[in-house]
This record gives sequence, C-alpha cells and structure tokens, in this order.
Amino acid sequence: MTAFLKLLARNRLALAGGIVLSVVVVLAVLTPLLPLPDPDVTNTSNRYVRPFSGGTILGTDHLGRDLLARLMWGTRLSLAVGFAAAIVAATIGAAIGIIAGFYGGRTDNIIMRGVDMLMAFPYILLALAIVAALGPGLLNALIAVAAVNVPFFARNIRGITVGIAHKEFVDAARLAGLSNTRIILSEILPNVVPVIVIAMSTTIGWMILETAGLSFLGLGSQPPQADLGSMLGEARSALITNPHTSIVPGVMILIIVMSINLLGDGIRDALDPRLKSGALSRPMAATRVARDGPVPQPTGAGLLEVQQLETQFHVKDRIYRAVGGVDLAVKPGECLGIIGESGSGKSVTALSVMGLVASPPGVITGGAAHYDGADLIGAPYRKLRQMRGNKVAYIFQDPLATLHPLYRVGDQLIEAIRAHRPISNEDGRAKAIELLDSVRIPNAESRIRDYPHEMSGGMRQRVGIAMALANDPDIIIADEPTTALDVTVQAQILSLLDDLRRSRGLAIVFITHDFGVVAQLCDRVAVMYAGRIVEEGPTAAILDTPVHPYTAKLMACVPELGAGKRRLAAIPGLPPAVDKLPKGCAFADRCHRVQDDCRAQDIALRRDGGRAVRCIHPETPLTKAIA
Ligand code: ADP
Ligand code: MG
Repeated sequence: MTAFLKLLARNRLALAGGIVLSVVVVLAVLTPLLPLPDPDVTNTSNRYVRPFSGGTILGTDHLGRDLLARLMWGTRLSLAVGFAAAIVAATIGAAIGIIAGFYGGRTDNIIMRGVDMLMAFPYILLALAIVAALGPGLLNALIAVAAVNVPFFARNIRGITVGIAHKEFVDAARLAGLSNTRIILSEILPNVVPVIVIAMSTTIGWMILETAGLSFLGLGSQPPQADLGSMLGEARSALITNPHTSIVPGVMILIIVMSINLLGDGIRDALDPRLKSGALSRPMAATRVARDGPVPQPTGAGLLEVQQLETQFHVKDRIYRAVGGVDLAVKPGECLGIIGESGSGKSVTALSVMGLVASPPGVITGGAAHYDGADLIGAPYRKLRQMRGNKVAYIFQDPLATLHPLYRVGDQLIEAIRAHRPISNEDGRAKAIELLDSVRIPNAESRIRDYPHEMSGGMRQRVGIAMALANDPDIIIADEPTTALDVTVQAQILSLLDDLRRSRGLAIVFITHDFGVVAQLCDRVAVMYAGRIVEEGPTAAILDTPVHPYTAKLMACVPELGAGKRRLAAIPGLPPAVDKLPKGCAFADRCHRVQDDCRAQDIALRRDGGRAVRCIHPETPLTKAIA
C-alpha cells in the first residue's frame, strides 16, 4: 500500500489532482460547519450581485441567493451523487461480470446479450428514458446514471474473469473442494479488484458530468436544492448579462472532473503491474550504453570476445550490479558453458551482447563485446538488428512463450528468414522443411502446418533451435534451452546441438545451472556467481579438480546414478542481492573455507595454464590443479 502511494506521488499530475480533489472533498464535507448563509433563502432585492461586492464573495444569483453557499452545498451534493453512482455501477457491474465470466456457457450468453442490449442505446438517451419513467429527482438521476454505466463495468470485468477462471490456481482451489462462492470470493475477486478500482477512478468524473447534465435539464435535483448541474441550468438565461452565475458552477465542475481524471490516470498507472515495474515508457530498441572507462581492445581470443562487461539495472535510486566485469571468449566450433545459480547474471550477460537487455532499467556501464573484431556494445541499432538472428542467434528456455501462438511454425520459420533476406514462398517452404529436418523433426512436410500448441515441449524446442539456425548464424546463445524439458528429451536436444556445432562449425554459448549438462556438451565452462566469473577453464579439468569452493559445491549438488551412496550437499544460504554486494568475495558468507582476508578486499581473477579462478583460499591450489 505504501509502495502504491509512493508510486502515485511520483506522478506529478496525479499528485496535483489528488491534492486539489482532497481540498474540494474536505470543503464539501465541512460545508455544514462553515459560516455560510442559507443557500436557499431568496432575497429578490439583492439579485445578481457581482462577486466581491455587497458583502458577498461570489455574488448572488437571479433570486438573490448567496452563490458561495449554493456552490458549496451544490458541490457536496454533486460529489455525493457522482461517487454513489460510481460505487453502485461498479458493484453491480462487477458482480454481473464475474458471474458471467466465471460460469460461462449459457449463463454468460444470456447475461451478456442483456448487457449488449443496454449498450446498444446511446446512453444519455437511456438515462433520460429511465428518469422519465421514474420521474425527475436526484435519487432517480443517480439510479439512471448508475444503470447506464453498469454495462461498461460488466464487460470489462467479465473479460478479466474469463482469463482468470481457467488459471491453474483456480483449478487447484476446485480440487481442494472449495465451493464456487468461496472460489469467487477468495480467488477471483482479489484479482479483479484492481481492475474495478481502475475502471472506477477513470469513470467517476464522467458520472459526475452525466449527473450534472441530467440536473441541467431539470431532471435531477429539484429547486430550491442546488447541485452543480441545476445551478448551471438556472444561470443559463443570464449567461450573457450576468456570466458569473454560470462561471462559478462551471469552473467547479471543471476543477472536479480534471482533478479526478488526473488522479484516476495516476491510480491506473500505479496499479497496473505492467506499468508498475519500471518506467512508464516502452523499452528502447537496444540496451542503453553509458561507458565512462576505456573500451578494451580485441585480443583475437575468439569469434566472440566479451571483455570486462558490466551491466546494471537502475531502478529508482537503487543500482543492481547484475553483471560486474565478465570476460568470455568463444571460438568457431567451440561450446562454452556458463553455469551458476539462478540470479547469478547469466541471462543478463548473454542478452547484453546483442543489446537485448530492456532499457530502462538496464544500462551497460562498461566493457566490450567484440564480434569478429567489431565492438557490438553501443553499435548503431541498424547494425545490431542486422546481426540479431543472422550472425548471433538465441534459443530461450520456454519455446511456448517465444513462438507466436497464432501462426503455424512453418510461417514463423519463413518470417525469421525474411527478417534478413527476401525469399519466395516456395523457397521459404522448402527451407522450413529442411530446417525442421535438420533438427530431426519427423514428417517435416506436414509438421510445418502445425501450430505451436499442437507440438510437445521437446518438439517446440526443436522448432526454437531450427529458428535459431534459419539464417546460418555463426554463434548460438542458448539460455537454459533444456530446463523445461524432461531428461530423455533433454539428452536428445543436447546431442542435436552437439552434432550441429560439429557439422556447421557453430560456436555455442550454453547457459545452464546443471553441471551434468555442462559435462555432456561443453568444451570449456565459466562459473558465475553474483554477476562475476569465479572460475573458468576446460570442462574436463574443472570436473576433475574444481578450484573454487563454489564450483566444488555446485558439483556436489549433482546426483550420480549408480555411483553408490553419496551425500547430496545443498549449498546453505542464498546468493547476495546484487544491489548490496559485500566488499571482498561475494561467496564468503556461504563458503566453508572462508577466512578473514576473504572479506577484506576485492578478489582478483587469477589466470594460469588455461584456467582462471577468483579465490584466495581455494579447494586445491591452482598450480596443483594444473599440474
Ligand atoms: P540468471 O543467472 O538466473 O539468468 P539473470 O541474468 O536473469 O540471472 O539476473 C541477474 C540479476 O539481475 C538478478 O539478481 C536479478 O535480480 C537482476 N535483474 C534482472 N532483471 C532485472 C530488472 N529488470 N531489474 C532489476 N534487477 C534485475
Ligand atoms: Mg536466466
């Protein structure tokens, strides 16, 4: 709640709207206590007194009534009716929407057709008809305004409810034996409340206007009772001769509706989870680069050479150092593994290379990523776009999320090719079949007409790989491509990737958290912890003699089949938060070999004999491990 208020207060316009509205509401609430003349007492000898004269502040109207008093009492009434109408409309509309969306089927059909019928009328006409039927009066105006707004809420909430009613947590509640009423109250309602609040905050202003409109036409508040609409209506005949009688209620309506709308927009932005997370803007096409240090020069260590890469997330006044100076290199035909616990910065490293980290909040603050000698960090967007998917391709963890659900996989493959070169439909189809064949999908000719949901997880990931291969890239960056798959399918995908890199000379950067996978596929492996590399070297050597205690612990977490009884060691504790990294070794708090000097200063990455380690009290001395 406090986070919501803080977020709201950051939005200047919403804050201003909120303050103005609060002042108006407080004054309206306090009106009976203020020393005002009676708003309904007429004094015809004192008609049309101008503001600030004759002992009045805002003057008097055509019957000599004090305008300030009428304004305050009128505002009070208009606000009360507007808010009441909004609450009634939201409650009834949301109830209808939830019932229609939750029960679906015939219930939904009958309810929503009724709502459609209501929506088919222009709604000021509908409101007029309702008031005409019920008779003029403020309460009836309130009913009319609420009634014409019910369909809006019902439609909105029904849409949201339909989406939620089939989610797993609702199924789980059903399996737990909860009644429909309980499910609606405890599972559905909390999820739609923010939407109701948003819809209300953006429509209250409109409802106040509608009520004022009905009163203006003489169908709302009845004389002598003042509300803003009826004040305007009565002032109409003196619009030219005594404009202040119209301006006073008019300005108040303007102030109220403006402030409610500004506040409403602010509430919507602050409550919407998609807008809440970061800035209220669209991410940039490529990650923002703000390097102040010198840019490292390429050494020719590989086709892709990442040097001293630093990527941060700037969220409000916090700085998350997700990647803190990473060096990597991968040669053609080589497979480099990056391993580490979740949150260690593997994905951010991989995405930084092609400028794919979302900005804001991501910023690349240092280092370089040389591809074939040219630096990709800070390269113009045109160049990055031309290279993405063409020279450097990505495979992600969840192919169901990366494939478009509404297009056939064949068309998506052709689209991936067309992003970089023109190809005829005929050739595209042939190429798509060839690609599916190359990732060993049986019956490729018929499979290209499948939609993603018609394929199994393993098949979809093969399509993901085929798409990465579509433009014959030199490098594939695979970010946990097998984490969502079962072990047999995982083994097939790994052997497929292994074949591909041997037959095509592909360089692969393979991100995983599983040492078993690294052992099967990777030539070299880099172990990451809290945004930095803590150990790097040939896979066989590291598996044989891990030097960093973290590497040793990670390996001890992998179960071995048929290797007799061995204690599976979990690593106690959690990685440090990357916005509060400790001085010295980040692993110190969880390390069994920790000593005082580990925490004293930054530990450097020492290289020797093709291996590198960032530790001053290693499991085995690095020199011994090499020998
Ligand atoms: P992993 O190694 O599991 O792939 P990531 O590279 O995704 O880890 O994340 C590295 C770190 O960056 C994590 O600590 C995460 O909290 C942080 N991070 C990632 N995205 C954001 C973001 N948008 N805002 C703030 N921090 C982020
Ligand atoms: Mg990741």
